Amino acid sequence: MKKLAILGFAFLLLFLSHRPANAAMGLQKISDSVYAYADTKAASPQNSFGANAGIIIGQDFIVAVDSLISAHEAQRFIKDIRKISKKPIRFLINTHYHLDHSLGNSEFAKLGAVIISQENDKENMQKAGAGMLQYARQSGLTDKDLQGTKITYPTLTFKDRLTLDLGNNKKVEILYLGPAHTSGSAVVYVPQEKVLFTGDLLFTAFHPFLGEADIAGWVKALNQLQTMEVDKFIPGHGPVSTKKDLADLQSYLLLFDRKAKELTAKSHDLNFIVAEMKKALPHRPQLDRLIAQNIQMKYLPKGKQSQAQAK
Ligand SMILES: [Zn+2]
Repeated sequence: MKKLAILGFAFLLLFLSHRPANAAMGLQKISDSVYAYADTKAASPQNSFGANAGIIIGQDFIVAVDSLISAHEAQRFIKDIRKISKKPIRFLINTHYHLDHSLGNSEFAKLGAVIISQENDKENMQKAGAGMLQYARQSGLTDKDLQGTKITYPTLTFKDRLTLDLGNNKKVEILYLGPAHTSGSAVVYVPQEKVLFTGDLLFTAFHPFLGEADIAGWVKALNQLQTMEVDKFIPGHGPVSTKKDLADLQSYLLLFDRKAKELTAKSHDLNFIVAEMKKALPHRPQLDRLIAQNIQMKYLPKGKQSQAQAK
């Protein structure tokens, strides 16, 4: 009996140690002062479509990057932050306005955080307004999932660059590289630790969302990121990445754009186009539903149905 119990315990340990990486694993240490979610498996509306988020811990306060898809998800994030540090969360940066990165804003505002975004994406968020909650419901979130979720706009905006002083000679640079994933997507750079949060300028192992993309601008922004002193890129979705992943996404974007234009010039049959796109595109395990959404929004006539799309 005792032996069996020990055996059972051993199996339990084995099971626990082989659990796939997922949201339940909490924030991972990326460098001295940076922690982030990364490599979430089984992306779903309830886990913010696998969106990453993270923190940079300064001398006296914490800077958070992105707030996930709902008040509930933001509470999970804040709970995980509190396991690492009790310092006040003074700033929240929205890398861009998409719902899986900004609908948790209100929970950070409650803690007194100043919410920062590039000026174009504050405007995009204001234009989308309540439509963002409607779109969240269409994307599969229930009223229960969205309980307590209130749209909360950035209170501090910038045009090209904003620097936060973290003390101890450490700083955070928020940089705008031009229109790319959205017209106001920004990246968050911690130069002393060679870490950069890309927001959705980088999707690794996920298909990217291109519904509002400026492909030429995005390719240019990825080139700029290649020249920066960075060892670890925290993508908007996917595992901690390298410059090779930037190059892979760049090739993906160019291929997608060329193929989508070719195919939509011949046919407007969405099923046919998506099937052909899947043959041409590299395999990415997560969010392949975005291939159809991208074609509909960006390449077929009458696209651009909503400005408040996910991802
Ligand atoms: Zn996005």
